Amino acid sequence: MGKIKLLDDYLSNKIAAGEVVERPASVVKELVENAIDAGSSVIEVEVEEAGLSSIRIIDNGEGIAEDDVLHAFHRHATSKIQDESDLFRIRTLGFRGEALPSIASVSKVELKTCHSDIGTRVVLEGGKVVTMEKAASRKGTDITVSDLFYNTPARLKYMKTIHTELGNITDVMNRLSLSHPEISFRLLHNDKQLLKTTGNCDVRQVLAAIYGLNIVKKMIPIQTQSLDFKVSGYVALPEITRASRNYISTMINGRFIKNYPLVKAIQEGYHTLLPIGRYPIVLLNIEMDPLLVDVNVHPSKMEVRLSKEHELNELVTATIKQVFKKEELIPSGFTEK
Ligand code: ADP
Ligand code: MG
Repeated sequence: MGKIKLLDDYLSNKIAAGEVVERPASVVKELVENAIDAGSSVIEVEVEEAGLSSIRIIDNGEGIAEDDVLHAFHRHATSKIQDESDLFRIRTLGFRGEALPSIASVSKVELKTCHSDIGTRVVLEGGKVVTMEKAASRKGTDITVSDLFYNTPARLKYMKTIHTELGNITDVMNRLSLSHPEISFRLLHNDKQLLKTTGNCDVRQVLAAIYGLNIVKKMIPIQTQSLDFKVSGYVALPEITRASRNYISTMINGRFIKNYPLVKAIQEGYHTLLPIGRYPIVLLNIEMDPLLVDVNVHPSKMEVRLSKEHELNELVTATIKQVFKKEELIPSGFTEK
């Protein structure tokens, strides 16, 4: 008998959870992304104690059919891709089929969902099904994740203050609302409303809900297009700066991403207009052929590999420079380096 054994599902999900579920904000991100993929127009997020005690997401999306509910908690089970060719044309936010099993393995989950007439309620603890029953509910999904990391004490210890964890959650919610102005989002923390967007498609209104009207009044729309990329968004005048890069939000095909070279390209667009150590408020939306972007780099799907990255970055820098030239903040005699 060899000594190499295949790990059981519970253990392998718990290992995967280490990457997918870093902190409460990752749970919020994954569950809200599921709600978005389900075609919801209204998504409500209620968190208690910065998500460490509970995270509840209520959506009005397509719901999960009774036959599928348990599948949804299996690793690599997804309704979003079917075969290899789909992997290169991902349009949904999820596709790895890892979030629900990972989250369930490190928390207590109650899921109520309804796809057609009759709903289903399932309760899991540490990834194991405790209850599964038919339940009356309205169309959509209502999922509550409680006692996150109750069975992974080392991870629980690693959690920062309520303030920091809540900051990460608001960050995720801000970015998701910015990338989906057609959806109405609401975020409540210990019953206090922290964010509400109308879902009327107006990005400026989402920016105003997040940063306040006075800032939005000083944000200039940008728009440009090349053969491969469509770039749009808003850039704040350089008189408004922040001490961190966190206020630079970048999205590719509706997914917010972290890409350092792209952030550098944005800063480059401001040229010398930004004081050292200060960063602008920017929202950048990039549309491109999904074939040119690989989102399958890390389980959190925040990192991407871009083909033609250099071309994109040059386009972004040039577009922002152009805006400030028009605003006459960069003298027109200014020459490229
Ligand atoms: P992925 O999103 O990568 O497919 P998940 O583990 O996040 O994997 O979800 C597994 C499946 O469960 C999804 O493919 C989807 O079919 C279903 N699902 C999860 N959340 C929802 C939701 N809020 N509404 C409808 N279906 C959902
Ligand atoms: Mg998902």
